Amino acid sequence: MVIQPLTVDLETADLLEEAGGETFRLCYQCGVCTGTCPWNLVKKFDIRRLIHQVRLGLVDFEDEDVWTCVSCKLCVDRCPQGVVMPNIVRALRRTVTELGIAKVPDSLRVTIKNVSAVGNPLGEPQEARADWARDLEIKTYTKGTEILYFPCCYQIYDPSARRVARAAVNILKKAGTDFGILHDNVVCCGESIRKAGNESVFQSLVQTNTNAFTEAGVEKIVVTSPHCYHTFKDEYPEFGGDFKVIHSIQYLLDLIKQGRLNLTKEVNKKVTYADSCCLGRYQDIYDEPREVLRSIPGLELVELPYNRENSICCGGCAGRLWMETKKGERFSDIRVEQALDVGASVLAVACPYCMANYEDSVLTTDKADVIEIKDILELVLDALD
Ligand code: SF4
Ligand code: SF4
Repeated sequence: MVIQPLTVDLETADLLEEAGGETFRLCYQCGVCTGTCPWNLVKKFDIRRLIHQVRLGLVDFEDEDVWTCVSCKLCVDRCPQGVVMPNIVRALRRTVTELGIAKVPDSLRVTIKNVSAVGNPLGEPQEARADWARDLEIKTYTKGTEILYFPCCYQIYDPSARRVARAAVNILKKAGTDFGILHDNVVCCGESIRKAGNESVFQSLVQTNTNAFTEAGVEKIVVTSPHCYHTFKDEYPEFGGDFKVIHSIQYLLDLIKQGRLNLTKEVNKKVTYADSCCLGRYQDIYDEPREVLRSIPGLELVELPYNRENSICCGGCAGRLWMETKKGERFSDIRVEQALDVGASVLAVACPYCMANYEDSVLTTDKADVIEIKDILELVLDALD
């Protein structure tokens, strides 16, 4: 292992400051973060040590630890000093990516290239962005339409995940919502790209989407990904993109409370819900998904161990969805086991990254005949007349 001195020149210091990495100075090395980190369940990863290296100005940029943190925020909520580890990690990655001082993991490099070239992490053509919706007769968003519905790129292009974007549309139609979509000139929200350290690509995505939304007169956006939600709501305003953003779960709950959805069909299943870090710890949205699930007739909701504020990440945040995680080190495998242990036949999610990881785990651990992965939207649609 080659330990490279981090030259704390103006450029590097500026990058760390700009990306919010400056809280490393507050760390007094108690180690609570390392003790909290879910990586302990599967391998050794010492975030305290990484922060110590940053403090000393000595970081091994080639170390895979630079790319390990999933930004799940569990340690941030426990740190007595208010250190924001995901921001420090993002600053480190930004230094690697933008200064080119070490190798970006291959799979992530491909993802960054895809987003730069065609505006989505899967590398699919922009012209195919509306394919998922061709037979659904959805109008293009124009000024005056109440809601812009914006599905995640994963739900647009992945053949299996498309069912969630389609379920959202069917529910919006049944509720009589006035909504439209945009496809020609919109791109990925950029969440993964920013957390992977590519700030310049992220900012160009922000600009493209903000221009497209502004030109179309968008005021309110409903999203089906907590990653789009967090990024549009909390990060776009920094660059002038200011829109009212609603996650589909919040919108669903409102529709149910207003009596606009007729949930009459029984869904006689034992269901457990995996909190998404981005919806839970980042946005404090814990009750809404559970309230929606409880409003489905016949459905029995059981809790996973480590739920709500203590939930374990699916492993897909901070760009890790696009990186290979070795067998035996996947958090999603652990969560599927826990779902089975509480007797669930459905593991419900409210996030496309959770869905991708859990579906992969169910397949690779040969559990497809005993447990299904379903977005809450799909369960609601199953219960509608
Ligand atoms: S919990 Fe906070 S103060 Fe303690 S080692 Fe981790 S970052 Fe430093
Ligand atoms: S944010 Fe999550 S994955 Fe990253 S160091 Fe903290 S607990 Fe570990």
